[in-house]
Amino acid sequence: MYLIANWKSHGDLLSTRSWVHKFLEALAPETMQALHSNKLTLVICPPTPLLYPLKTMLADYPIAIGAQDISSHPQGSLTGEVSGEAYIGIATYVLIGHDERRKLGEDESITRQKYAQARSAGLTPLLCVSSLDQYITDAPMVAFEPVESIGTGHPAGPEEVIQFRRTLDLPTDTLYIYGGSVNRDTITPYLAHPEIDGFLCGAASLDPIHFSQLANMLATHA
Ligand code: PGA
Repeated sequence: MYLIANWKSHGDLLSTRSWVHKFLEALAPETMQALHSNKLTLVICPPTPLLYPLKTMLADYPIAIGAQDISSHPQGSLTGEVSGEAYIGIATYVLIGHDERRKLGEDESITRQKYAQARSAGLTPLLCVSSLDQYITDAPMVAFEPVESIGTGHPAGPEEVIQFRRTLDLPTDTLYIYGGSVNRDTITPYLAHPEIDGFLCGAASLDPIHFSQLANMLATHA
């Protein structure tokens, strides 16, 4: 089971320290065990400058770090771009094609270039899609994120989420994640469905106590 935090453009160095402290304190011992035994995988995707500090703060814990974006080009003379190579040794995952990036003008061709850069740097791309045409067939991890559910408080029902997985006709070893208004009050109905391998959380990941409660719920379920 996967639980992925997408902090989006929230947070700074000070708030990250406090988040980590509160989050770890509220994590149940059983959850820590589930993390050690890989029953539960936690990935935290902070803003880019916080990746390395967060990795350092979590060095003693089996918690992975993910980037929220990646350059569509390999490293080179491209001021301001962050190449896949720059993440090696820091992040293991990278979000690709999040709707908030698509809304900022990232088209399908750029998304696919970013996906290719993530693969060539050895990062695991978490491909975020809201429609069939955004799917990339060899993606190891796909997040269904319906546009009308992101940040609205209106998650898609488990039937819709499972139906979308069937529409994608995913290979059995592809991890299928749901994202969109997942929080401790909305998550329970999905947990009965083994077709859903995890959750991508925006707003609910910003509060360390809320997010640790989510992790505790998933660890109990795992
Ligand atoms: P939300 O965001 O949990 O705040 O709806 C999810 C996402 O954008 O990945």
